[in-house]
Order: sequence, then structure tokens, then C-alpha cells
Amino acid sequence: MRRVVLGNGVVGLSIAFGLLRRANASDEIVVVGPPQRPGSATLAAAAMLNSFAEIEHGGLDTDIDLFRFEMSHRATRLWPAFEQALIDAAGDRLPSGCSACQGCAGGGCFKSGTYVVNNNAADDLDDLNFDAILTALVDFNEQHDVISPKDIPHYKPHQRYRASRALFIHNEGWFNPRIMLEKMEGALRRAPNVRFIDEGVDRFSHADGAITHATLMSGNQVEGDQFVLATGATAWDVLDRSGLRDLIQRIFYGIGTSIEIRSPDDALSHVIRTPNRGLACGLYAAPYFQGPNEPNDHVLVGASNFIAPQLHTHGRLTSIEGLLNGAIKQINSNYYRADLIRVNVGARPNSQDTYPLLGKTSIDNLFAATGTKRDGFHLAPLISEVMANMLHGEAVDERYALFAPSRKPLRTMTRDEAVAKAVRHQMSAAYQHGFSPATSRMPDQIAANMRDAVERLHDQIGAKDWGIPPEMLDMYRYGHAIP
Ligand SMILES: Cc1cc2nc3c(=O)[nH]c(=O)nc-3n(C[C@H](O)[C@H](O)[C@H](O)COP(=O)(O)OP(=O)(O)OC[C@H]3O[C@@H](n4cnc5c(N)ncnc54)[C@H](O)[C@@H]3O)c2cc1C
Repeated sequence: MRRVVLGNGVVGLSIAFGLLRRANASDEIVVVGPPQRPGSATLAAAAMLNSFAEIEHGGLDTDIDLFRFEMSHRATRLWPAFEQALIDAAGDRLPSGCSACQGCAGGGCFKSGTYVVNNNAADDLDDLNFDAILTALVDFNEQHDVISPKDIPHYKPHQRYRASRALFIHNEGWFNPRIMLEKMEGALRRAPNVRFIDEGVDRFSHADGAITHATLMSGNQVEGDQFVLATGATAWDVLDRSGLRDLIQRIFYGIGTSIEIRSPDDALSHVIRTPNRGLACGLYAAPYFQGPNEPNDHVLVGASNFIAPQLHTHGRLTSIEGLLNGAIKQINSNYYRADLIRVNVGARPNSQDTYPLLGKTSIDNLFAATGTKRDGFHLAPLISEVMANMLHGEAVDERYALFAPSRKPLRTMTRDEAVAKAVRHQMSAAYQHGFSPATSRMPDQIAANMRDAVERLHDQIGAKDWGIPPEMLDMYRYGHAIP
């Protein structure tokens, strides 16, 4: 059987690897994607494997959210064996610098341990989210320590931004995503039954309820028995060009910027991050592994977020300014003299309902894996396993039906919950971007204005008994998201 995987980010390559691990002699796997990976989320990611550190206030209240959390928790535990399998499969095609690699067990390019700090750089949504993380760590009996911020190595914030609370999560680590992609490609390119086509797909052709072939940007065609749409944030656009825009809900571009810096005096040993903040993922600094014999003094600082209906390939000045300032003020004031190595911009695949799309579409031989938003790197081993099972027609946990690609957008909040959350997130975003109110009723008045605007938007789109996720407000406001 020939299976065609469209997309060469971490999700596409992981699925191809999952298929390779269980391929028989007559199976062929084709991976389609441009080698430069324009707009790739994977290349911009810090590649943190965070489950608990990502928990937000109220974020485990529904069965759907609990299942998503369970998936991410399981993914963390799958990573060591997954990475080892990649190393074994890549053999002499491991990226340079990885030849001495013994995988997670021997150190590899994976390290574990994340510090979460609760500072006052934004607003009290940070406190709520920090409390939610701590509660979940206790409830799930996850290994952690409540520590004093002053005991965090290389944590040296500006005095006005110092944290009042901190904790250490033992089992949440990170990778260098660029090295991981090279490793995945090495494993796949070494296999005789895997073929790479180094260009993008333009559209699908379909007849009698099945995809017949994909047409590439060059006009060449690729035929296959099964197709997997894993082109990240562009997935819906590919379907739109194919006359199949109603097959899945719209996928938006969650434009994220991160910066890579080099700071020889303050090489980090672990991730230092805040909880998630309103409309974004908070601020983090993650060690950016360079190789076993390198100084390893690079740090990835992230990340900004805005949702757009199309790709933006350049970072906004406000995003870059926020990251530079945040790194110096909230992580380590010595970063004022760090070298700026690179600005990364990538598009997180953000579905309209903000949940992932995984599995078979309502076209029998077309599968989709996208909508992973902030967690696609972390979920890769799980997606690899689950999608390979689905493509082979095997049973998976029935709760994956919740994330079936052709579902109607999930609605997990009441209108009142969504309005309250939207105001909280927008206020947090304002404080993240330097809002400094007068000593008056001003913050309450602004919050009241925000509430009115969000209520009006719900009225306009007829959202009576359901609510818009805060990050999607503008997409509904400007008519890009269809209720
Ligand atoms: C700044 C930032 C920080 C992040 N940090 C983390 C983190 O710490 N941990 C985590 O788990 N996740 C993180 N994420 C999210 C994570 O990066 C994504 O969820 C994940 O990379 C999505 O993988 P993907 O393969 O679906 O998409 P992508 O990485 O975007 O890959 C899609 C691929 O498809 C290709 N493609 C596009 N169009 C076509 C086409 N028409 N035909 C063929 N190929 C095409 C592209 O070239 C690209 O290579 C972060 C994202 C950003 C932007």
C-alpha cells in the first residue's frame, strides 16, 4: 500500500515514522513538503514537553480537556522510547554531533526539569494559573518541589520583576527541535521504502468519495491509497484549494515568535518559565542544545502569539520587543549583554475550536493531523502511534472520536464562562504589553468596556448558549471564523 504524508514538520515526520515502524515489504511511504519549511511551527518551537506547566485555571474542567491533558501526559512518557527508536533507525544518518548519542537514557539532547515562576510582570491571571498547576501536580501525584525562586540556577530577574513563588517539575523537559527534525529525516531517508518529494502540495483531486491524487506546486501528481494531511497551519487552505473547504473546520495561523540568544555567562541548566498568560503562553527561557561537545550556552526565549487568517513570515516588532524585554527583566538581567542569534517566526496550527484534529476525515482515504496549537512537538510520539494505528484500520481509544477532523467545532464553554474568560485574558494581555493604569477606577472601567464588546460580539454571531474561546475573538469579529 502507498501512503502519502503531506507535510514535513514534526507531525508529518512522526506519522511517517510511525508508519515505517510497522510497514511490511510491500508498503511505500511518501513524504511531501518543501525542505525550507516556510512558516514551520516546529522550527520556531522551544520544543518543551510540558503537560503540567501548561495547565490553566479551569483548564481541566471538562471531559474533553481532561482527555487532552491525558494525551499530553502520556506523550511525555512515550518520548524516551520514541527518541531511542529514531536513533536506532537513523544509524549513520544521525545529525553531526549526535554520533555519540545514547538517547534520553544517556543524556542525549533531551534534559528534564522545568522551573515555573510566579512573578508580577503581568496580572493576577498568572497567580490563578500557578495555583492550577500546583493543584494538578498534587492531585496527579506528579513529582515536583515547591522551592524558593532564589534557588533557581541562573535566575536573576530585575528587582521589580522578581518572583514570589516557584516550583520545579522534575519530568518535564525539552529538545532542540531543529536537531530532532534532522534526526527524524535521517531515520526516514535511510529506509528504502520511504520517498521524499521536496515540494509543496497544491490540491487534492477526488472522485467517488475518495482522493485520487495530490497535485504538487510543480503540477506533478502523486497517487496513493491513503493520504495524510499534516501541513500544519496550511491544512485548511490546501482543502480550500481542492474545493473541500467544508471537510474540516478552519485552521488558523497562530503566529508565534521566539528568539535564540547566546549568553556564555548564564548558560541555563533547565527551562525557566512563567505559567501561561492571557492570549499567549507566557514567557520562557529554554536551553537550546547545540551538540554534545559544544558550550551549550544558547537559550530560546519565547513566545508571542496572535491568530491570523493567513501566514505572516516576519515577526512583529512588538513581539520581538516583548521577548527581549521579558528575557532581560523577568529571567536574567545579564541577558542585556547576550548575543541575538536568530529570530524565529512560525505558525501554530490553531483550529477554530482550539482542539486538535486527528484521524480519518469523512473522505475514507483522507486522514488529517493538525490543530496541535502549542503542543504539537510534545504530542509527536503519541500522534505517531495513534495515527499509524488509525491508518492501519486498528482500534484506538474511543475518545479520539472527540477530535475527529470532520467534527463540528467543539463548544466547551457557556457564554457567561467565555465572556468572563475573554475579559480576564484581554486584561492579562494588556498588562503583558505594558498597560499601566491611572490610580483610579480605570482598570475596572476598561474591563467593563471589554465585557460589553465581547457580549456584543456574541449577540452579533448568535452565540446564545456557547462561548467564543478568547484567542478566537478577532477571527469571529472579522468574519474569518464561521459560527
Ligand atoms: C514560537 C513557538 C513555540 C512553540 N513551542 C512549543 C513547545 O515548546 N512545545 C510544543 O510541543 N509545541 C510548541 N509549539 C507548537 C508546535 O511547534 C506545533 O504544535 C507543531 O510544531 C506543529 O507541527 P506540524 O508539523 O503540524 O506543523 P509545522 O511545523 O508548521 O509543519 C508543517 C510542515 O508542512 C509544510 N507544508 C506547509 N504547507 C505545505 C503544503 N501545501 N504541502 C506540503 N507541505 C506543506 C511546511 O513546510 C512545514 O514543514 C510552538 C510553536 C511556536 C510557533
